[in-house]
Amino acid sequence: CGIVGVLGDHEAAPLLVEALKRLEYRGYDSAGIATVNGAALDRRRAVGKLVNLSDLLVHAPLAGKAGIGHTRWATHGAANETNAHPHRAGPVAVVHNGIVENFRELREELAGHGLNTVTDTDTEVVALLTQHYLAQGLAPRDACEQVIARLTGAFALCFLFEGEDNLLIAARKGSPLAIGHGQGEVFVGSDAIALAPMTDRITYLEDGDWCVLTRQSVEIFDAKGNRANRPVKTVSIDA
Ligand code: GLU
Repeated sequence: CGIVGVLGDHEAAPLLVEALKRLEYRGYDSAGIATVNGAALDRRRAVGKLVNLSDLLVHAPLAGKAGIGHTRWATHGAANETNAHPHRAGPVAVVHNGIVENFRELREELAGHGLNTVTDTDTEVVALLTQHYLAQGLAPRDACEQVIARLTGAFALCFLFEGEDNLLIAARKGSPLAIGHGQGEVFVGSDAIALAPMTDRITYLEDGDWCVLTRQSVEIFDAKGNRANRPVKTVSIDA
């Protein structure tokens, strides 16, 4: 399983699929991507091998230079298209590796706000909770900070927002996550191998870190919400 994110200078969909291919070695049962094109957020998902997702994208292309992608190894809910990531709730799409341990409590709380799940995954509550905070008027970064603080378990997460084609928010706790630095481009991946065709300049997030990414800026925060400085390393991996 793996996650990827792109704020690029080129169409994101082919880059996302290519990066996901490089994470195939981790195993998966389904895959999906979401992009923001202009303001519009949309997604495509397919069960089985990545070639199924690629085939789908031939018939139903997804334009846009900002996007997120996921290969899923199901822990909660069958391996079907409904449960495949990215999960979407209103203006936000999210990809997640790991397990949200307190998803039942969160699901109940969200139902109390009239926000009901439509999948069997633990992940969907992350999207719904973000939607809830956004609807209260929080900016994406503030909404995500609140959401991340409420999750227990292990996760690597990447968020994409409708109307925001220059913003990704990512977080890691117990699952690895790397940021790739390009020239006016920025990437997210479960590991540097996924990002090797795009860049060899990598920052590994530390456990508990979360970050706000644009094409021009990378802001990393630690688990206490303080700005964190993480080194940029040049890695050598065959692209
Ligand atoms: N727990 C999530 C799910 O079952 C994510 C699984 C994964 O790490 O791919 O959908």
